[in-house]
Amino acid sequence: MLTSVVGYPRIGADRELKFASEKYFRGEISEEELLKVAKELRTVHLNSQKDAGIDYISSNDFSFYDCLLDTAVLINIIPKRYKELGLSDLDTYYSMARGYQGDKGDVKALAMKKWFNTNYHYIVPELEDDTKINLVGTKIFDEYEEAKSNGVETKPVIIGAYTLLSLCRYTGAKNREDYINDVISAYQGVIAELDKRGAKWIQFDEPSFVRDLNESDIEFIKRLYQAILSEKGNAKVLVQTYFGDVRDVYDTIVNLDFDAVGLDFIEGKQTVSLVENYGFPKDKILFAGLVNGKNIWKNHYSKTLDVLDKLKAEGIEVVLSSSCSLLHVPYTLSAEGKLSSEYKRYFSFAVEKLVELREIADIAESGDRASFASYKANEDLFVKGRDSENKEVKKRVSEIKGSDYERLPKRSEREKIQKEKLNLPAFPTTTIGSFPQTKDVKNNRSLFRKGEISEEQYNEFNRDKIKRVIEWQESIGIDVLVHGEYERNDMVEYFGESLDGYLFTKKAWVQSYGTRCVKPPIIWGDVSRKKPITVEWSKYAQSLTDKPVKGMLTGPVTILNWSFPREDISIKESMTQIALAIRDEVLDLEANGIKVIQIDEAALREKLPLRKSDWYSEYLDFAIPAFRLVHSGVKAETQIHTHMCYSEFTDIIPAIDNMDADVITFEASRSNLEILDSLKECNFETEVGPGVYDIHSPRVPSVEEITVALKKMREKVNDDKLWVNPDCGLKTRGEAETKSSLINLVEAAKLIRKEA
Ligand code: GLN
Ligand code: ZN
Repeated sequence: MLTSVVGYPRIGADRELKFASEKYFRGEISEEELLKVAKELRTVHLNSQKDAGIDYISSNDFSFYDCLLDTAVLINIIPKRYKELGLSDLDTYYSMARGYQGDKGDVKALAMKKWFNTNYHYIVPELEDDTKINLVGTKIFDEYEEAKSNGVETKPVIIGAYTLLSLCRYTGAKNREDYINDVISAYQGVIAELDKRGAKWIQFDEPSFVRDLNESDIEFIKRLYQAILSEKGNAKVLVQTYFGDVRDVYDTIVNLDFDAVGLDFIEGKQTVSLVENYGFPKDKILFAGLVNGKNIWKNHYSKTLDVLDKLKAEGIEVVLSSSCSLLHVPYTLSAEGKLSSEYKRYFSFAVEKLVELREIADIAESGDRASFASYKANEDLFVKGRDSENKEVKKRVSEIKGSDYERLPKRSEREKIQKEKLNLPAFPTTTIGSFPQTKDVKNNRSLFRKGEISEEQYNEFNRDKIKRVIEWQESIGIDVLVHGEYERNDMVEYFGESLDGYLFTKKAWVQSYGTRCVKPPIIWGDVSRKKPITVEWSKYAQSLTDKPVKGMLTGPVTILNWSFPREDISIKESMTQIALAIRDEVLDLEANGIKVIQIDEAALREKLPLRKSDWYSEYLDFAIPAFRLVHSGVKAETQIHTHMCYSEFTDIIPAIDNMDADVITFEASRSNLEILDSLKECNFETEVGPGVYDIHSPRVPSVEEITVALKKMREKVNDDKLWVNPDCGLKTRGEAETKSSLINLVEAAKLIRKEA
């Protein structure tokens, strides 16, 4: 049985691509040097798959920033404002991804959004009315040739035409219909060119096929692919879907002229029944995504083999595949010296998943499971079970009452009480929590980790940073201060480290966007809080000022969504356990004099099912209560904030309001402000801080620009509910740009106060 990998991590085992790119951004290395690093990484990644015996290996799954942006650029979807900068190709690309501020001009980056239900973010391509889509790039061809010259015949991959058109923003009057012909010729061009170069397979990634699709979507898909595939030559085409099942288009796609169809058997709840009920054509190959590309637990071989055996029995030609790109898991377990093998044997990262693919395919091929030592070892793991239970936690969860989810008095009354107690000016200014994690901050942490400084020295440094940042915020006139989060490496790992039931890795980085990677901790067992986590830092920060300093916590939904979850208990149960732990922290902060507490839910939307019909029953009905459980015990005068890193919640506004926070801050500067209209329509009760500038880019917003944004916001939000803040935490930014930006922000708030 042959094996396939949908895509491979590209950042490098040691995040080489991240560091090289950042050096390039800072002007420390040349374009040539950056390209060299990239090429070396591609070769390493290719060889690792080849050596593991993978048969279908992707090329062009590499990206300097994001694969959707690569696809857009390949076919000339480049907005004028970026072209007009007159930069090199690579810098034009980066200007779209990161914005540009320099002697050639000043443009913001394109919007960035979460990639389906993952923590990966893609750049949203923009289609302008006069965008002329045509094949102008060569990246996919170059990387195919490069792999070939390294002795690997690959399947070049590109985001499919439907997913591309579904994820683009249409800035003018045109819609997808207006671009269909040009898109068809561009994709035909890609096929023709690859064919000419001798490619045997081409992979079109179409994750949008797993969403809810209506009649006109299905019609559109048919027209698109009938045309694109009509010009097929010798190269075969694999349509690769992932992140769910394709229930709305199963019939459609198996009847189109694809040579192979990739289906997700992990997240696709109906995949097995679709194949069973509708059958699978004998002249096509089924790429069965049975090895989880998103989680890090070992595959349960016997279960996977059961599915493979069934497919084989039906006479289907099967290739065993990862369920999606391995981009969403860390690179290799072998870098995890810190984790004992007692734990490690339950896990499998990208490199180890290659081994799983090979082993399972070989066992499936032979049909004689018992003769494989790898099979027996795997079965042992699952038969014995793991030691992960904490009886006290289980008991506490079972004793939760309905009233534990209700905060009293109701929000409108709390609002009055809080206005009086906190006595803030109109349009209060605040930030989202973190301040720049500058070299000295990281260095301090790393010295401490290496044991080169004592805990007291480590803490002293952070206290000094906190003191300075409190003084600085006071000096420029911010109203609700933060302590800067210097003691945190990451908003989830930091909490995980203080909770029982968590495991940590050293190098298990996963790309989040561009050069940003996160290191999700692993939920191993039942979760509980050993001791207060943030209280000392918050108490210290508050002792330095009369202004309120926000206590800063990460909420249970985000902690869960940004961890690798267990597969042996439900998400709901894990989330409730975490909620109880954070609830204890909230109450401790309050008891220690903290008047404003922010509970970040940056990832609330992330695990929202891709199909609307599942939203409440499979997610929101327990995620929102988990958040309420965290803060329902505080006094009326304690102000609860929450924060989200995006503004796409138009469709779940009632659920967001139902979190029952007093204030919510969210991303708004990269997107348009339609969200505010929707909030008004829904009578949104929570006070709001729509971010007035974009922190994902180094550019400094002017006072004027922020004032204009605030004026627009005032048209849509009542003055007594509007806060002024950046988009998100400032940890990834430099110090100078942060200071200038915040000074301008406070200035703009003052101007608006005069006007109001
Ligand atoms: N409080 C966090 C910070 O400021 C929030 C980060 C986030 O939303 N991603 O860093
Ligand atoms: Zn954020």
